[in-house]
Amino acid sequence: MIKERLTRPDTERGFLLDGFPRNLAQAHALDDILAYSESRVDAVLDLEIPEDQVVRRIAGRRLCRQNHEHIFHVDYSPPEVDETCDVCGGELYQREDDRERTVRKRLEVYRTETAPVVGHYQTQGLVTTISACGQVQDVLNRSLVALGYGQVDVAGTSG
Ligand SMILES: [Zn+2]
Repeated sequence: MIKERLTRPDTERGFLLDGFPRNLAQAHALDDILAYSESRVDAVLDLEIPEDQVVRRIAGRRLCRQNHEHIFHVDYSPPEVDETCDVCGGELYQREDDRERTVRKRLEVYRTETAPVVGHYQTQGLVTTISACGQVQDVLNRSLVALGYGQVDVAGTSG
């Protein structure tokens, strides 16, 4: 699947993989695919955040039953009326995947299966670790700086 995707024309100038590879087997498969096409990984960003913050971010998410693009957060963007969508009045709910116990399980899988991938790229000197705490805009800017680009200022997101 990845192999097919990486041969499409829109990847000629480069590409960013988000959430892949998730384990060492996938990392080795990616190495093979890239070596075959005489390409390579240029940089790896490791986004670091305390587990309790991850749990709070994910477990606080609420989706609208009428429209999954209507997304709220109990701490960061709460609806005007509890459990009710501001946009359409639909009922808000928490996805099974977002429940605290499920999130903690996903973090355990991350520790055992995905964290070793960081070590794989560290031995190749490719990893830059940045903090994923704070606002989206801050994390984006840290990412861009780590990749050698300047910061961007997106109107309306500062402050
Ligand atoms: Zn809605």
